[in-house]
Amino acid sequence: MPHVVVVGAGQAGASLVAKLRTIGFEGEITLIGAEKVPPYQRPPLSKAYLLGEMAEERLYLRPAEFYTNHNITLRLDTRVTAIDSAARTLTLSDGTHLTYDELALTVGAHPRTLPSAIGGMLDGVFAMRDLSDADTMAPAFTAGSRVLIIGGGYIGLEAAAVASKLGLQVTLVEMADRILQRVAAPETSDYFRALHTAHGVDIREGVGLDRLLGDTHVTGARLTDGTALDIDFAVVGVGIDPATILAESAGIDVGNGITTDDHGRTSDPHIWAAGDCASCLYHGQTIRLESVGNAIDQAEAVAVNIAGGDQPYVPKPWFWSDQYDCKLQIAGLNMGYTDVYLRKGDAPGVQSNWYYNGDALLAVDAMNDPRNYMIGKRLIEAGRSPDPALITDPATDMKALLKP
Ligand SMILES: Cc1cc2nc3c(=O)[nH]c(=O)nc-3n(C[C@H](O)[C@H](O)[C@H](O)COP(=O)(O)OP(=O)(O)OC[C@H]3O[C@@H](n4cnc5c(N)ncnc54)[C@H](O)[C@@H]3O)c2cc1C
Repeated sequence: MPHVVVVGAGQAGASLVAKLRTIGFEGEITLIGAEKVPPYQRPPLSKAYLLGEMAEERLYLRPAEFYTNHNITLRLDTRVTAIDSAARTLTLSDGTHLTYDELALTVGAHPRTLPSAIGGMLDGVFAMRDLSDADTMAPAFTAGSRVLIIGGGYIGLEAAAVASKLGLQVTLVEMADRILQRVAAPETSDYFRALHTAHGVDIREGVGLDRLLGDTHVTGARLTDGTALDIDFAVVGVGIDPATILAESAGIDVGNGITTDDHGRTSDPHIWAAGDCASCLYHGQTIRLESVGNAIDQAEAVAVNIAGGDQPYVPKPWFWSDQYDCKLQIAGLNMGYTDVYLRKGDAPGVQSNWYYNGDALLAVDAMNDPRNYMIGKRLIEAGRSPDPALITDPATDMKALLKP
């Protein structure tokens, strides 16, 4: 029986090993993770956990006994430092070596940091990726403190929502023309700008950070428009880079993430990859998805294929974000959209934005509108595109769009 080693004990790694056992794989399984804690879910780190509304144990994807009970060796606080793909051997941070028959890389991503030349290394400047990041920054989230959030993507906006709810004075800078510019249409940006402004967040768009100020601890910031701000701490949410160094050093093909084929296999026939670190194919294009749904689905497909199955991975993108009392749910990918059609719900704050490329439905952003999210998701997955005039017409029975 082969020995499968999975490097990276996060969402994808945990899903992969669990799936291997679910489908009856009887070989040896080792899951190696650099962090001290068992695999956990990251989304609450910028939501309920940071708000102090969720205990650490509730983050864990499975209780620690799960791994023992399923004969999975979980090696925590251990980093893989090198792969010898010819000898199929790994070097671990404790200096030992481990051989594998099949290797899966589920090593996630690194948050981008600010250069130290502009104050990125000052105390009180926080990144948001791991549980330890959330634990380190949580004490700074005290009512009355002044926080600067750098970056108006989902992580930055979620941190702003938490800070505002906890009574901090929040300024958010986004150097692009609008928040969420990389991921959403202006209509969605408008919705979230209005939501944050109503909660007292000072959103500044089209303005970058010039530099953070302070001797050892950050005390201020200068923006590219010359504005100076006094702050107590800063949160940096300027995107992530896939963790590819290990794969690169093993000679595996890397582009936007670790390159995989439609079965999750890398350019080395015995090495697989899944989750934030891996690219995949979507409608003929190589993309990388940074979401829980992708981490689970891609990892499970890889598990089936490692066990000898033949399961192509077909991404069905979905994502969510929680800010204040708004739940945003996204189905599909809006890449290449030409038009956005807005459907207003029957209560304030309920809305869905439907992305089309010509006549083809690509994606839906649903704000507090789970019904239209599900309808959009099912339509997209079935490759069906209703006439946009039906989407905007308040009289349309949306459920009827699902009828064959
Ligand atoms: C704050 C936050 C909020 C988010 N909110 C949402 C959300 O609302 N909805 C959503 O869909 N997605 C959300 N995401 C994204 C989602 O959490 C990720 O897409 C998902 O965790 C990816 O899983 P992964 O297993 O690929 O990577 P990770 O969960 O990052 O796991 C990778 C693991 O590999 C370990 N590792 C790396 N290198 C090595 C090595 N050499 N040796 C050993 N171990 C190693 C890392 O320490 C890490 O534990 C959020 C992410 C963050 C950080």
